[in-house]
Amino acid sequence: MLADSSNPQSKPKKRLTFLSRVLSVLIKAAILLMLLFVFDRLLPSISQQTQSFVIAKWQQLSLLQQELPTENSLLSPLPEQHLTDTWGAARSQGRSHEGIDIFAARGTPIRATTQGIVSKVGGNTLGGRVVVVVGPGGAGHYYAHLEDYADISPNDWVNAGDIIGYVGDSGNAKGTPPHVHYGIYINGSAVNPYPLLQKD
Ligand SMILES: [Zn+2]
Repeated sequence: MLADSSNPQSKPKKRLTFLSRVLSVLIKAAILLMLLFVFDRLLPSISQQTQSFVIAKWQQLSLLQQELPTENSLLSPLPEQHLTDTWGAARSQGRSHEGIDIFAARGTPIRATTQGIVSKVGGNTLGGRVVVVVGPGGAGHYYAHLEDYADISPNDWVNAGDIIGYVGDSGNAKGTPPHVHYGIYINGSAVNPYPLLQKD
């Protein structure tokens, strides 16, 4: 009866279960390592996204609480160029000019007049290639007829003086001397940017 326990046939069976246990432990360890690797890769990018989302929201809120532009407070989009008040001049189809035009050589860098959040980098029929930045007080800053955009995208933060694009004649300015059309919109209405811009 006791001879049964020393049955030589039970040994390979034991070896097999030991081997399969080792194998299953190894497989579990490998899966754990893979999971750790994946989490290690994913977690930092998730927390970065959360961080940039929180920063963007905070920036939006702080922008809205800042004061609207006041007289002679804004940097010129083309600081080297002479400014002329062309607000209200007649335009095609009974429109009046809702901004000012500042002329410069094609390709001259155009600078953000305020800090803010880029809300549009794209085209429209009249403005051609345009950039819109939402600045202090929620004012919209509209730059049109660009030759090209700077390396910016919607939701990017810009500081006053950052390059947002380059002077051109896109849109309905095609064939006219290259210039930037600069407009300011407060609560949806255009206001004259000329008094608000710094003059030297
Ligand atoms: Zn214009």
